[in-house]
Amino acid sequence: MLGLMQDHSLAVGSVLPFAERQFGHVEVVSGATRLTYGSLAGRVRRLAAGLVALGVRPGDMVTTLAWNTHRQLELFHATAALGAVLHTANPRLGPDQLAYTIGHAGSGLLFADLDGLALCEPIADRLTRIKGTVLLCDPAAMPAACRLPDPISYDALLEAADAPLPPPPDERAAAYLCYTSGTTGLPKGALYSHRACMLSSLSLMQPNGWNLGADDVVLAVPPLFHCVGWGVPFMAPMVGAKLVLPGRDLDPARLLDLIEGEGVTMSLGVPTIWQGLLDHLSARNHRLTGLKCLGMGGSAPPPALVDAYQKQHGVRVIPAWGMTETTIGCSLAVPLASDLPARARALMAGQGRPVFGAEFRSVDEAGRPVPPDGTSIGHIQVRGHWVAARYFRAGEPATDADGWLPTGDIGTLDGQGFMRITDRAKDAIKSGGEWISSIELENLAIAHPDVAEAGAVGMPHAKWGERPVMALVRCPGATLDGPAFLAWLAPQIPKWWLPESVLFVDSLPRTPTAKIRKAELRDRVRQLLKDAAPREPR
Ligand code: ADP
Repeated sequence: MLGLMQDHSLAVGSVLPFAERQFGHVEVVSGATRLTYGSLAGRVRRLAAGLVALGVRPGDMVTTLAWNTHRQLELFHATAALGAVLHTANPRLGPDQLAYTIGHAGSGLLFADLDGLALCEPIADRLTRIKGTVLLCDPAAMPAACRLPDPISYDALLEAADAPLPPPPDERAAAYLCYTSGTTGLPKGALYSHRACMLSSLSLMQPNGWNLGADDVVLAVPPLFHCVGWGVPFMAPMVGAKLVLPGRDLDPARLLDLIEGEGVTMSLGVPTIWQGLLDHLSARNHRLTGLKCLGMGGSAPPPALVDAYQKQHGVRVIPAWGMTETTIGCSLAVPLASDLPARARALMAGQGRPVFGAEFRSVDEAGRPVPPDGTSIGHIQVRGHWVAARYFRAGEPATDADGWLPTGDIGTLDGQGFMRITDRAKDAIKSGGEWISSIELENLAIAHPDVAEAGAVGMPHAKWGERPVMALVRCPGATLDGPAFLAWLAPQIPKWWLPESVLFVDSLPRTPTAKIRKAELRDRVRQLLKDAAPREPR
């Protein structure tokens, strides 16, 4: 027997009309452009009409290559309203991966801001499926020449009159396409459904999640091109929070200007961004007053960073875990009211527990479940309403028969579902058959006042299989040396975790999302150790 309730599609296109009705006066700020949810909704309707005039139909794929601006946000909502699919290409990819992902997505229409255009022109010959180009600028800023087909100005598109929208698509229809960064092979496409975007937003904006409300001002730091901007384009209008879009420049001084100038109460992003802001605040002896909460994910925020925000600035930090395949993410580190301070602090160093709608388990090499006892390490798997079932244009399912998706992470789960990732499986250090957590070593190292960045990798060892080696970047002017660092580290870790060597480098290789490129770091460390090894006597 079916229920007798109304059956509205959980379509993303319903979000902005709701915000227009309820929160029409609430601001959306993007550089010098100040809109409201009311005016944004009108622009989105005109953009949708402009897209229809360009021939975009339900199910069509269009690509955008842009930073976090109102125009990119409008594309998010207009394509969703039309039932078209927005492929959010990543401007931080190199030319080969960019050409590959745009080609693989198969869109005929490219929306690029002027930075995006600069990236596409050198690969224009390889973008053979692109038949039309819309530059995200006003007509006056249009370049005199353009190597991409049929360029028009975005603002000219908005001159279209409002036109009726098609009926909302099936909630299982595709809304957005985002590619993994492809550190282990070709990028793979995660094709997010309307339902996945809506359910993940509804779950993650709750008090056990980002705790968003109408009194918040959200600074959208996570790029809209990765994991749908962690859901900010949907959650902020759903709750009526003022939305601030920072564009390309995420320099600490600019972030601080936006936070203070716009009254930002909440932001999200990778820990490196927030470490940069913290250093800037310390250098200027500036104390934050309005910012209440920072969500950090993408990599593990070092406890020293979490502590500094909480103690020096009264900002609550919420670590969170997600991957391209999990839409906007699955777990957050929000301690329970019953957790004593020591446990609460330990939980903040982990990746949290799943929000409603997501589920984790841990398995051994043979796929057998590992007990969730907080200490047994296994391969973490995830499933849930917004977890990928298969990759775009790939034959094989991404999961096993029960829907479990391998995350590539190893770590522990405890009896309350809290997860602690110790490593990505491919970066793990195994010494004498036991795991050493590179994340934990790095987090400890970064707490040393002379250490700016830290990367731990495993190096082959005749007796133990692998031993950890630490690469450190000193803070400007610091003179820390290896023995002094090891003497400082030793009392904080088991004896066998102590790195075999400490190497000082100028910088660590990073991915487009600021994660340490471990494979490259391992090669560099191997070479540095070889160069430093005493030569064999002839
Ligand atoms: P890519 O795989 O292209 O680097 P993803 O966003 O898919 O980009 O990365 C997902 C991975 O990022 C996770 O599998 C995990 O290793 C890491 N990650 C994400 N959030 C956290 C976190 N809070 N702590 C530790 N690692 C994290």
